[in-house]
Amino acid sequence: MAKRGIEALGDVRGKRVFVRVDFNVPMKEGTSEISDDYRIVSSLPTLRRLLDKGARLVIGSHLGRPEGGKVEPEFSMKPAADRLGQLLGKPVKFAGDVIGEGAKKGAAGLKDGEVLVLENLRFEKGEKKGSADLAKALAPLAELYVNDAFGVSHRGDASVTHLARLLPAAAGDLVKKEVDKLTPLRDGTAPRPYVVVMGGGKLADKIPVLEALIPKVDSVFIGGGMAYTFLKAMGKEIGKSRFEPDLLETAMKILEVARERSRETGRELVLPRDHVVAASPDDIKRYAVVESIPRDCMALDIGPLTIADYTRKLEHVKTVFWNGPLGMFEKKPFHLGTHYIGSFLAYSQDIRTVVGGGDSAAATRELGVEAQMDWVSTGGGASLEFVQGEDLPGIAALPDA
Ligand code: ADP
Ligand code: MG
Repeated sequence: MAKRGIEALGDVRGKRVFVRVDFNVPMKEGTSEISDDYRIVSSLPTLRRLLDKGARLVIGSHLGRPEGGKVEPEFSMKPAADRLGQLLGKPVKFAGDVIGEGAKKGAAGLKDGEVLVLENLRFEKGEKKGSADLAKALAPLAELYVNDAFGVSHRGDASVTHLARLLPAAAGDLVKKEVDKLTPLRDGTAPRPYVVVMGGGKLADKIPVLEALIPKVDSVFIGGGMAYTFLKAMGKEIGKSRFEPDLLETAMKILEVARERSRETGRELVLPRDHVVAASPDDIKRYAVVESIPRDCMALDIGPLTIADYTRKLEHVKTVFWNGPLGMFEKKPFHLGTHYIGSFLAYSQDIRTVVGGGDSAAATRELGVEAQMDWVSTGGGASLEFVQGEDLPGIAALPDA
């Protein structure tokens, strides 16, 4: 069901609009310098649209994982507020608290087209706990509510769920776009052939998505650390590669279901056929490309035959959902599998690729091919939960169109 958008709020001129955004930006280690501002940039369409219509914005977000109950300077929203001001090209006010005098006076003093950023919502313990009382204390700061924080919409945080029910509410442009892009993947209605490219560290994180998508997609291409639990389950030597012992049985079952389906429909679940291995991830000079993994080595990336095999099989595909790097991409040269597959998807003009997952999105940005993808989700965990068919509490709380 489509959600009410900003236009449904009517004339917002002169009205205070609480916009829940996801400004949970990464900082350079030990500093208050933002290392990647894409989450702030992603909120600009919604914020600009409201400001152009003369709204007065009260912006709330969390940042990091403060203990709560007090101000912790390293988690302050101030650097994000300053960056927002630079991006909007206008001064942005900062409250210094969440529901205290700073917030109340700041909100009351806003003029049309002005912006106030509240301090980290998680400085109030009730935010993370989903407290209705905190939402009641936030509500008087504004007259209308917009959720543009897709990345936290799978959480029950007070400002994401309760607050949406206390004020006339709508989905922001980012949330709408995320839902529009992810729904066809979830429902299996995306243009076919529709396949999943899945990698990443742990199979445990991916089982719900895999189980939900296998019946809906044409093929699944596996890479990354999760491949080795599958290969181990198949009785292959995986050396010192990481695997999840308690998931061997589940992996077997998934493989059986996939094999059965493949016999009936030709739809495959494909595993890597060669690997880049080393004695340890730090052994970046002494690595080898192998089809059988030696006992004293661990697999850190997919090999060139797998890259060739996957790209050939992806050639005539129309839709790809990509979640999870295909190797330990943070450590060069083990980024190459991720980079070759990512580049192939970016260059293929007939393939629409949607990228989900925090590390996959980071890899896409690192590659510089974000603009070549159909969509790079801003929600790590939220995008996976959405695609696996969970009702996200923050979306469910918004009124239907
Ligand atoms: P996403 O955030 O996109 O969902 P994940 O969090 O599941 O992705 O996986 C990312 C992590 O998986 C990265 O830290 C990467 O180093 C790790 N990884 C990928 N392949 C391997 C591998 N072969 N061995 C160990 N770690 C791997
Ligand atoms: Mg991750």
